Amino acid sequence: MPIYEYKCNHCKKEFSLLFLNQKEVQKAKCKYCRSRNLTKLLSSFAVHQTEESRLMNFDSSKPRGDEFYKDSRNVGLWAKKRMRELGVDLGRKMDEIVEKGRTGKILDDYNT
Ligand SMILES: [Zn+2]
Repeated sequence: MPIYEYKCNHCKKEFSLLFLNQKEVQKAKCKYCRSRNLTKLLSSFAVHQTEESRLMNFDSSKPRGDEFYKDSRNVGLWAKKRMRELGVDLGRKMDEIVEKGRTGKILDDYNT
């Protein structure tokens, strides 16, 4: 669920709105005066990145240190990015493999 920060151009108040889906975003209104004349602000606090935006911002040609892999969400990102660059359709199977890798389930499978 995305949270966006807005400034109302009518009453000049700033507020944040939580949206259930992208459709709701189109209908954003000022909390105070109900104006739809809003300016979207960039969130200053922890922005929740979607996997899609991580892939977009991720440069697979740059070396990555240990820090990178301490974030489990980055595991499998390189492989996905490379395959996407090569035009390989990953499909559901790849997502499953990556998800297993992140949670350590791949090892479990090998042990059984
Ligand atoms: Zn307003």
